[in-house]
Amino acid sequence: MKTFNDAVSLIREFLRIDTTNPPGNEEAAALFLEDILTREGLDAEIHAGAPRRANIISRIKGREKGKPIILLGHTDVVPAREEEWTVHPFSGDVKDGYVYGRGAIDMKAQVICQLLAFIDLAHRGVVPKRDMIFLATCDEEVGGAQGMEFMLRKLPELGDASFVLSEGGNLIDEDGLVHAQVSVTEKKLSQFIVKAKGRGGHGSMPHGDSANEKIVEASHRILSHRWPFKATPVTSAYLGNILEGRRIGQAKFPGLKEALKIPGWKRLLEGNEIYSAILRNTVTLTILRGGEKVNVIPAESSATFDARLLPTETHERFFKKVRQLAGEDVVIERIGEKVSGPGPSRYNTVYFQGIRNCITSLKGQVPVLPFVTTGATDLRYFRDIGIPSYGFFPVTLTKEEHMRMHAKDERISLENISEGLEGCRTIVDFLASGSVL
Ligand SMILES: [Zn+2]
Repeated sequence: MKTFNDAVSLIREFLRIDTTNPPGNEEAAALFLEDILTREGLDAEIHAGAPRRANIISRIKGREKGKPIILLGHTDVVPAREEEWTVHPFSGDVKDGYVYGRGAIDMKAQVICQLLAFIDLAHRGVVPKRDMIFLATCDEEVGGAQGMEFMLRKLPELGDASFVLSEGGNLIDEDGLVHAQVSVTEKKLSQFIVKAKGRGGHGSMPHGDSANEKIVEASHRILSHRWPFKATPVTSAYLGNILEGRRIGQAKFPGLKEALKIPGWKRLLEGNEIYSAILRNTVTLTILRGGEKVNVIPAESSATFDARLLPTETHERFFKKVRQLAGEDVVIERIGEKVSGPGPSRYNTVYFQGIRNCITSLKGQVPVLPFVTTGATDLRYFRDIGIPSYGFFPVTLTKEEHMRMHAKDERISLENISEGLEGCRTIVDFLASGSVL
């Protein structure tokens, strides 16, 4: 049986492999995971979507044919600016009870906990009902063309899965109140570039046809727009449970739909970054380009936006509004959009109930709620073809720890690693049991 110490040292080693995407170089990560699997007597196959962009898959044969269950993870990470961190982002250093490193939360610790639970299942000689697949993909952070998208083409049986478990939800500790977010859907990625052209010229002679001014004005209009709050069935179930019994003055929480009509409740929801992000489209200006020299008016400039739409929003409706806000002086180009953004996975399933039972057995009676992930994950590929897919890693994070994902000093506590390993084992045992579909 793999121990907590095994998990910690493997997570630290994994964090030391720099899989910053772009460019990715996830081959090193796939070879690292392959080495662990083969040392433990399991088979592994590597499939590269492009040179040095490798995915890895391993399988435990089940009693019944077809409809495998997939433990999915990704091996790439987003860039880290070393100068902002207090430790080197690829050191895997342990400090004050935390393992630091880019990817600690998103999602190398989860990949290792899922892997060790998978290996333990094989070592215990458990024959699962369905084939159990461990899959770690590359390229998730940049859309998945070389990763999940490539693997679904290469191994069509993945598209026949009965269930997929990956990232997107955790146990959250909000001021001592713990609840579990089991992600059943996610915001839709809708990124775009606004481009402007104008006349170049000397900075001393403004002529009113400046690319930079057009970009600033269009961006300002886009960013000033208040996208309306909308309740969806998943957010109503999630926030309805969390806010039940809360009061503003004398007034009890009236349910999400009603609360969105009342200024006091709207302010409360708006004041919480997570609530606010799951209730509306968000539009964030992430890259600005224009000009190189203080006395030269540039002829071209651009602004790049990262927008995340509510699962019920359409790209068409969204872009119609963005174009209208941006005005006639600029052009808008969408950035790569392959998966349209499917509806939520159902959560009245044996999988949701089974995961709820696992959480209850580990944590007692905490609320286990369907959740909408604000980021995009590889699970959208499976939801797009109607396979129930949940994002959940059974570790208890505070909001502060959660916000370190993609930010500086990303880390995971040793306590979380212990929780994650035990939790993944419990969930994987359930997924191997006869109660799955
Ligand atoms: Zn991730």
